[in-house]
Amino acid sequence: MNQFLEKYDLQHTIGTGAFSEVKLAVERATGQKFAIKIIDKLKCKGKESMIETEVNILKRVRHPNIIQLYEMYEFSGKIYLVMELVTGGELFDEIVGRGKYTERDASKIVQRILCAIEYLHSMAIVHRDLKPENLLLSDKTRNAKIMISDFGLSKFFNDDEVMKTACGTPGYVAPEVLRRQGYRNEVDLWSLGVITYILLCGYPPFFDPNNVELFRKIMAGKYEFDSPWWDNVSEKGKMLAQPRILLHLTKDFVRKLLVLDPNERYTAAAALRHPFIVDYNNGPMDPM
Ligand code: ADP
Ligand code: MG
Repeated sequence: MNQFLEKYDLQHTIGTGAFSEVKLAVERATGQKFAIKIIDKLKCKGKESMIETEVNILKRVRHPNIIQLYEMYEFSGKIYLVMELVTGGELFDEIVGRGKYTERDASKIVQRILCAIEYLHSMAIVHRDLKPENLLLSDKTRNAKIMISDFGLSKFFNDDEVMKTACGTPGYVAPEVLRRQGYRNEVDLWSLGVITYILLCGYPPFFDPNNVELFRKIMAGKYEFDSPWWDNVSEKGKMLAQPRILLHLTKDFVRKLLVLDPNERYTAAAALRHPFIVDYNNGPMDPM
C-alpha cells in the first residue's frame, strides 16, 4: 500500500469541480476528517514539479477564512491534496436559497473575503478563480465562517480550457484576463466586485448565454444597477442615528471594483477602508 493510503482511509465524493474531484478521507491514526482534492495529471501535464513548488508555498498560508492545505501526494497518475474539511456547502447554494443578502450581511461576508484576499496578496499569491462556488461555509450553523478554497493553482490549467468548460462560469473573469494582457492581483478584486453585486441582487452583472457575447460585455465593462432590484440599495450617504452618520455608499463600492483598468481598480487594502465595509464592521467582531 502506498504512503497516502496507509495514512488515510479514502471515502465518498463530496464535490466535483472543473478539474478535480473532492473526496472525504479519515486519518487512520487520529480519526480526523479531511477533504482530499484529486487532480488528474493529464489535465496539467508537464507541470507537476511547478505544482509541487506552488503547493509548498500554499502550505504556508494560514488564515481563518482560507481553507488550509496540509500535504500533497502523487500516485496512479493523480495528484492528491490533503485539505481542511468544511461542511457548510457552497456560498452559491446559500445565495440561491436566500435570493439575496441584506447590505449588512453582504458587507460582513465581503469584509471576510477581503481580509483573506489582502493576506494572500501580501504573500504574492493571486487566487484568480474567485466565485461563489469557491467560497465555502465552515459549517451548517448561522454563524458559519466564509472560507476561500481553490486558490493559487488555477494558473496551471490552460486559460482556454478554463473558459471552455461548461462547469466553470466565465462571468467572474476580469477583462484583462480576457484580453490576455497578463494578470496580477487586481483580477481578484474584479471577481470580488462581481460577487458583491450578486450578493446584493441575486443575479450576475454580466450575463449572456453566448460566451463570446458575455466576454464582449465584460471587456466593455457594461453593467447596470437595474430597477427595481437595485432601487433600495444605498447610493448616497444615509443619515442614521446621531452621533454616527452612516455612509454605506454600497453602489459606489461595487463601482470601485468593477473598473476596467486594473491600475484604477481598488486594491484589497483600499476596499477594506470603504464605508460599505467600515460602517457595518466596526462593532464587536462577528464570527463571519
Ligand atoms: P475545482 O478546482 O476543480 O473547481 P474545487 O476545489 O472548487 O475544485 O472543489 C470542488 C467542490 O468540492 C467545491 O465546490 C466544494 O463543493 C467541494 N469542496 C472543495 N473543497 C472542499 C473542502 N475543503 N471541504 C469540503 N468540500 C470541499
Ligand atoms: Mg473550484
